[in-house]
Amino acid sequence: NSRLAEIDPEVAEQIDNERRRQQDGLEMIASENHTAVAIMEAQGSVLTNKYAEGYPGRRYYGGCEYVDVIEQLAIDRAKELFGAGFANVQPHSGAQANASVMHALIRPGDTVLGLSLADGGHLTHGMKINFSGRLYNIVPYGVDETTHTVDMDDVARLAREHKPKLIVAGWSAYARQLDFEAFRAIADEVGAYLMVDMAHFAGLVAAGLHPSPVPHAHVVTSTTHKTLAGPRGGIILSNDADIAKKINSAVFPGQQGGPLEHVIAGKATALKIAGTPEFRERQERTLAGSRILAERLLSGDVAAKGISVVSGGTDVHLVLVDLRNAELDGQQAEDRLAQIDITVNRNAVPFDPRPPMVTSGLRIGTPALATRGFGEEAFREVADIIALALIAGDGEDLSALKDRVHALAAAHPLYPQVADLSGA
Ligand code: PLP
Repeated sequence: NSRLAEIDPEVAEQIDNERRRQQDGLEMIASENHTAVAIMEAQGSVLTNKYAEGYPGRRYYGGCEYVDVIEQLAIDRAKELFGAGFANVQPHSGAQANASVMHALIRPGDTVLGLSLADGGHLTHGMKINFSGRLYNIVPYGVDETTHTVDMDDVARLAREHKPKLIVAGWSAYARQLDFEAFRAIADEVGAYLMVDMAHFAGLVAAGLHPSPVPHAHVVTSTTHKTLAGPRGGIILSNDADIAKKINSAVFPGQQGGPLEHVIAGKATALKIAGTPEFRERQERTLAGSRILAERLLSGDVAAKGISVVSGGTDVHLVLVDLRNAELDGQQAEDRLAQIDITVNRNAVPFDPRPPMVTSGLRIGTPALATRGFGEEAFREVADIIALALIAGDGEDLSALKDRVHALAAAHPLYPQVADLSGA
């Protein structure tokens, strides 16, 4: 970024600091990843200059012949990868994708059933001050007090009682798989649409390592930057032609203006990569890593400190650490790992007695490390470091653990093929 350094050294310096932070530490925020250099190249291209309101072949601006090809590639690849008859690749983000689906299928004041934020749902699934909570009548469902998993009998009971127009299945902090078929049966029984938000697990679905919601849901939304490892953005999929039409006009002109064609180019490339055997192998390591982490956090020395794992394990790319019975709270645990250059986020856990700014949980994800090449042995080392950091006494010297983190980071360079990015 030499031009940037020349024109705006203040911004360039902070980008360089951020690059070094990512390289020297371990990113374990479950919603993050390290996208491919090729995708960053697409995003930093001249496509950022182009207005292209409308859809390929039906634009409101001239000069769209090349962006049309790119957007069509992204659409076709999304359809093929996920087995959907329709894809809209224009949502600027996951939140915009969800807003667009609600805009398309229901009206303000309609009832929506969504997983509560406290139990792992996303803001756009009905949080009070989010657009979803303000525009719609939200009825939250939660998880069972003992299993910490969604109880489908409870979802059915709420659906029969409240007759929602839309049921949202999907999560931001949940370590198990949802039963999409059961959700669809409930939606059909009460005459609701089913939207599955697979933002978190889309990469696992693409790799065939998680059941696909596409055959069951009326509409599927996703982000493209989490397990899918693409640029920041959203997509919407469906197999229903009538819904598809409504979605297209809800995205543009309903919710958005000009699409971000530089990001759409990145999405096209990400969807291509997601169809490769290398991508599948990376998702396998992602899952192996989270299983290894859960196992380590369930062992005796950790349990002795009152620390546990929500739902007793994981089937996906993240682990939810349960600190409800620990002295350490979510904020302290997040800070503890930050001290040794492991970045995670504190997260409320079901039936959390502590306030939302403190919480009794940590959400720890493995996608970014799998992208850096971590295999089982490296994940065993990370898991041990995290366990020892969490059970350490207050004020205990953590420098040996930090050295182990730096050794792992050095052994798995970020973007090794590009000198500017690897810092070489
Ligand atoms: N849906 C789910 C399930 C998410 O976890 C998130 C992001 O955390 C979103 C939607 C929103 O995505 P974005 O941050 O791109 O708006």
